[in-house]
Amino acid sequence: MNGTTRLRVDPTRCTGHGCCAELLAEHISLDEWGYPVIAEADIPAVLLRDAKRAVADCPALALRLSREAY
Ligand code: SF4
Repeated sequence: MNGTTRLRVDPTRCTGHGCCAELLAEHISLDEWGYPVIAEADIPAVLLRDAKRAVADCPALALRLSREAY
């Protein structure tokens, strides 16, 4: 099955620590209040390790990787 890997943030959990944007700057920027803006793009294989680390290190457990079929 073909698919893509996307990074999602649960805005009800996110507390705006911002460390995810440091770990995955290619994919996450911060808005003016310090909350993450996640690119609507697949996570390329080369960034998957960093994306997993951002998920694991989020202190609010607000990030997740989802595999989506197309
Ligand atoms: S590390 Fe987690 S809590 Fe902090 S801004 Fe990113 S998603 Fe939100």
